[in-house]
Amino acid sequence: MNKKQKRWRNRILVALAIFVAVYVVEETGVLTRLFGTPGDVYASFALFLVPYLIAGHDVLTKAWRNIRRGEAFDEAFLMTVATIGAFAMVFFPETEPHMAEGAAVMLFYQVGELFQSYAVGKSRKSIADMMDIAPDYANIEQDGQLVEVDPDEVAVGSVIVVKPGERVPIDGVVVEGASQLDAAALTGESMPRHVEAGAEIISGCINMTGTLRVRTTKPFGESTVSRILELVENASEKKARTENFITRFARVYTPTVCVAALALAVVPPLLGMGAWSDWILRGLTFLVVSCPCALVISVPLSFFGGIGGASKLGILVKGSNYLEQLAHVDTVVFDKTGTLTSGTFNVVAVHAEKGFTEDEVLACAAHAEAFSDHPIAVSVRAAYPGKVDQARVGNAQEESGHGVSATVDGHAVLVGNDKLMREHGGTWHECELTGTVLHVMVDGAYAGHIVIADVVKPDAAETIRSLHAAGVKKCVMLTGDRQDVAEAVASELGLDEVHAQLLPEDKVNAVEKLLAQEREGGKLAFVGDGINDAPVLTRADVGIAMGAMGSDAAIEAADIVLMDDKPSNIARAMDVARKTMRIVWQNIVFAIGVKVLILVLAAFGMANMWLAVFGDVGVAVIAILNAMRCMNVKNV
Ligand code: ADP
Ligand code: MG
Repeated sequence: MNKKQKRWRNRILVALAIFVAVYVVEETGVLTRLFGTPGDVYASFALFLVPYLIAGHDVLTKAWRNIRRGEAFDEAFLMTVATIGAFAMVFFPETEPHMAEGAAVMLFYQVGELFQSYAVGKSRKSIADMMDIAPDYANIEQDGQLVEVDPDEVAVGSVIVVKPGERVPIDGVVVEGASQLDAAALTGESMPRHVEAGAEIISGCINMTGTLRVRTTKPFGESTVSRILELVENASEKKARTENFITRFARVYTPTVCVAALALAVVPPLLGMGAWSDWILRGLTFLVVSCPCALVISVPLSFFGGIGGASKLGILVKGSNYLEQLAHVDTVVFDKTGTLTSGTFNVVAVHAEKGFTEDEVLACAAHAEAFSDHPIAVSVRAAYPGKVDQARVGNAQEESGHGVSATVDGHAVLVGNDKLMREHGGTWHECELTGTVLHVMVDGAYAGHIVIADVVKPDAAETIRSLHAAGVKKCVMLTGDRQDVAEAVASELGLDEVHAQLLPEDKVNAVEKLLAQEREGGKLAFVGDGINDAPVLTRADVGIAMGAMGSDAAIEAADIVLMDDKPSNIARAMDVARKTMRIVWQNIVFAIGVKVLILVLAAFGMANMWLAVFGDVGVAVIAILNAMRCMNVKNV
């Protein structure tokens, strides 16, 4: 509890104590003995006013402010009218006085409000805690001394020192030292990772054992930590349809209820169906029950909790709308390379044509790929035993879905698939081995090819199985790779459909076609690594990006980002989404159900104000507690 909430709580407790004292005094008949009748009624009126005002003066002023701004119909207004009405019953001397109820309604309303504020604060805080990955400083060395500086001020390429126990403030490459890094806060992965000189590390990890010197590769604002925080902060702005529905609902509902209450209080007595006081009281009770706070607070809180819970697993959801859509996904489309397969290719074979050696072919390819971020390029460079000298490379150009072209030592080199060869009018021949084949052409002559093979990720098959088990109808793979490679992967993983040899724009078309086949209400998710498939991520109902560590384009384009590259997190994300939606609907049905029941009882005069206020506060508390379950992702 923060300071403000503590003061609030104390105020309620004081009011409650006075209320109890006044109630006892009144019941024991002391007032009647002191003031006689009807003096005792006025005395207890004055006495009950004290706890009422202590507990509720802020509600009254809020209602008054809103009325003056012309936005009358909110909870504060409902409570104010109902309680003032209860006190005003004193003007009907023939009925029982209702001051006690008036004060009690205000008191319990405040208890409920305090509870709400506490619950919201708590889930905010737990998201903040989870996301407490923002480093406050970075250490840099100046004249042999370590100085703490604002991470924002560290220039790209400077060397920072990360001591054991500290968080890595900025993305970079280790230049000296070895240590274990704990990335649990980012990815949910609890196994620490060993790093040493040369390893790329991301900000937000905790350095556990050794001191590291790190050359920064990004400014702080573009480092992983900053990007994640930005995502989470913006998440609450993108509201789910259910959430918007509740807001609109409350806007129509509250005035409707007020009019109904007024009618209930006025029409029957005008028709001579009973005493004014009786019907006014029913109208007031009606007002108290009708307060929609349980819905208004618990629905956003559930989404908030679901997003927070997902982020505990290393799944960043950019808005509640995406969580809502994810719960309805029945088609999941995967990119192959880097998504279902690890994206680290092994070189299976290098075949050189006459006039070239195998080493030359590999060297040419590695240099031509010098500037590409594609997983193939990274793997070819890694397979090259020498050092890639970027100075020998000119004019490097990536032709997405085809390959690369560049000049290496002045020779025009092409590296890529048969589409690339065909486009440039070269001759080439296929290889008898199964695998991704990179043809290499030097100055228009076919130099040979490199066969590389990728392995499927260890949890990929399991993911497809659990998606099917969770009711996903179709799992589809799209790839720019060869048909035989694609089919081998598809049958190993048990995919329902596979489309190979696609260019990036073909992938968009393929997804459009699948979207057109979607049945009513079904949603399509696309999972990719953002390399060559960012447009598809945007086009899908839900775009899920793999490997937040990798491509910036993916993080931008995606709606959901998986902080580690494990496909199994898709199934977990769907579990979280479905659980959240289940809880949201439980709350909606429960809250509206109880309200309607008490409203009906109130209209028939079978519910008094005590039942009304306990109904209202009770429903709110239960709905909030239920909503907070969304944060709990241990057992999904
Ligand atoms: P995927 O759909 O499997 O993710 P991409 O669309 O990224 O694959 O690439 C499709 C094909 O294009 C690759 O299988 C490869 O043959 C070729 N290719 C793409 N980029 C490169 C590159 N940098 N070097 C060589 N070949 C490439
Ligand atoms: Mg790809």
